[in-house]
Amino acid sequence: MDLNEQLFSRARAVIPGGVNSPVRAFKAVGGTPRFVKRAQGAYFWDANDTRFIDYIGSWGPMILGHGHPAVVEAVQKAVMEGFSFGAPTEREIELAEEILQLVPSMDMVRLVSSGTEAAMSAIRLARGATGRSKLIKFEGCYHGHADALLVKAGSGLATFGNPTSAGVPPEVIKHTIVLEYNNIPQLEEAFELHGKDLACLMIEPIAGNMNFVRASVPFMTRCRELCTQHGALLVFDEVMTGCRVALGCAQSVYAKNIPGFAPDITVLGKVIGGGMPLAAFGGPRAIMENLAPLGPVYQAGTLSGNPVATACGLATLRELRKPGFFDALSLKTRKLVDGLSAAATEQGVAFSADCEGGMFGFFLLDTLPQNYPTVMKSDGAKFNKLFHGLLDRGVYIAPALYEAGFVSAAHSDEDIAQTIAIAREVFSQLA
Ligand SMILES: *Cc1c(COP(=O)(O)O)cnc(C)c1O
Repeated sequence: MDLNEQLFSRARAVIPGGVNSPVRAFKAVGGTPRFVKRAQGAYFWDANDTRFIDYIGSWGPMILGHGHPAVVEAVQKAVMEGFSFGAPTEREIELAEEILQLVPSMDMVRLVSSGTEAAMSAIRLARGATGRSKLIKFEGCYHGHADALLVKAGSGLATFGNPTSAGVPPEVIKHTIVLEYNNIPQLEEAFELHGKDLACLMIEPIAGNMNFVRASVPFMTRCRELCTQHGALLVFDEVMTGCRVALGCAQSVYAKNIPGFAPDITVLGKVIGGGMPLAAFGGPRAIMENLAPLGPVYQAGTLSGNPVATACGLATLRELRKPGFFDALSLKTRKLVDGLSAAATEQGVAFSADCEGGMFGFFLLDTLPQNYPTVMKSDGAKFNKLFHGLLDRGVYIAPALYEAGFVSAAHSDEDIAQTIAIAREVFSQLA
């Protein structure tokens, strides 16, 4: 008897769809989700005690691998001192200081509990700071599930977008403008039409919620120029890319190619919590001082800056700061991506892939897509075969073709080599 199946049917009786976040249900790929019993390093074991090489890593946070000893020790110590106080602690200052050192575009940061909360609060802050209502987002970028951000494009720029979820009233999204990623003419047109009413432009600089798509340097340059010119704030949603693609986040990657580049507000999550519920948003002092209790923009949280979560985040960030950490992680990720590409080519499977730091994506397409409609041209049936082929052989990648993948410091060269060998075998049955 498959224990995952048993757990899944038990879960479905009491939790909608059997899961607490939809993608976990394997709906896109079919089959039974693996219920995780425990995890260590690059692996987790499911209910049947089957081992998997984990390329999801809790959707990004587990950059050190599971159960890193320094992190475990910090969390254990914190637990003994108390779970939650609803009063300030020194550890919150330490984590804030650590984050600000890594991300120089921020002078101040506010800690919250989830990426959704951070992105939603960043939008409120941008609106409060500018006194404007409209915002731009891009199709295929995900910023959590706040109402105003659950929008897809309408039929044209002049029309309103459509909610991507039931329960989101049209009035709530009427200030949200949805544009195509990497489309400069459309961006310019939107600023021409709405520039004076725009509070912010929110973007995933390397979009990890439509697999892996980079904003091109010319596109990002234009985003920055137009925001500055029209007095709108450039909000970088780095919940996924933050401390994952580089120690200084994706903005440091763009700053290499665009002199003086910096966003106005940065949203962080995932890695900065090291696997605990922790996220943040920050920016220059003049913007951040709009937040309560200093300013008129209200934002709060019972568990914000939680002492156990901050201990976990701090211990994680301190490991990332060790010399050579990101070089080694990048090299490993590159090795995986190059190996997969070579194996696919050898087996005659259309394949393209990209990576930055410890984040990667691949497509069953000849060339890398630049926007959401092209991502969605991927062959879903073929992806599902690939997914299950890998899963059956002990390699766990995201159960949907529009998700990025993650390598951790705990993945060994042998893990990578084994993954490539397994993928070659699965590719041979795909072509
Ligand atoms: C994961 C993610 C979020 C949402 O974070 P949660 O912690 O799941 O609420 C927001 N933005 C991006 C870019 C993300 O990848």
